[in-house]
Amino acid sequence: MISFLIFGPPGSGKGTQSVKLAEKYNLIHLSTGDMLRAEITAGTELGKKMSLIMSKGELVPDEVVIEMIAFKIDNSKGSAGFLFDGFPRTVAQTIALENMLNGRGMKIDSMLVLDVDHDELVKRLIARAELSGRPDDKDPSVIENRIDVYKSKTEPIINYCREKGIYQPVNGMGTINDIFKRLSDSMNKLV
Ligand code: ADP
Repeated sequence: MISFLIFGPPGSGKGTQSVKLAEKYNLIHLSTGDMLRAEITAGTELGKKMSLIMSKGELVPDEVVIEMIAFKIDNSKGSAGFLFDGFPRTVAQTIALENMLNGRGMKIDSMLVLDVDHDELVKRLIARAELSGRPDDKDPSVIENRIDVYKSKTEPIINYCREKGIYQPVNGMGTINDIFKRLSDSMNKLV
């Protein structure tokens, strides 16, 4: 089985592109953001605890998302592989994911990184707030915090993956279909 990371700052289009890629390549799409929002909607204890952190644009604790992903990996069958979206978000999560995959005879095969200008990110997130109703998209200071958290805690994963030779930058500007075509071109080299 093959494993891809789709990577990039908030608003870079990971979620939108993941749905399309998962369908095209028969991958299981695992989004920790979606999993956490499902906990909040279901009103679980975990959801209640995580919603405050998420509404500030901070990261939830590593062990919470690592446990969620481990459960999904073990309970998802019948696909060509996995597409991880919004996970890992710290180097510690990356190492945990590698260990999980290695223990199951897999590895991270590629990291597709969407590059998008800062102003375009903010524009997209504000536009998304209208449709998604996500509290973390509504407040400009939360948006800026999410982008700062990405730079300080998440972006270091790029260097980690570059050293492993799995880093693949992709231009994330343009139409949804343009970007999908570029991502597909990168994926086609691997599948
Ligand atoms: P976006 O696509 O806008 O980056 P996500 O839906 O991926 O947003 O995540 C929303 C929020 O959920 C994050 O701001 C963070 O609070 C939390 N979250 C999601 N995934 C992780 C993760 N892997 N580690 C820590 N926090 C996470």
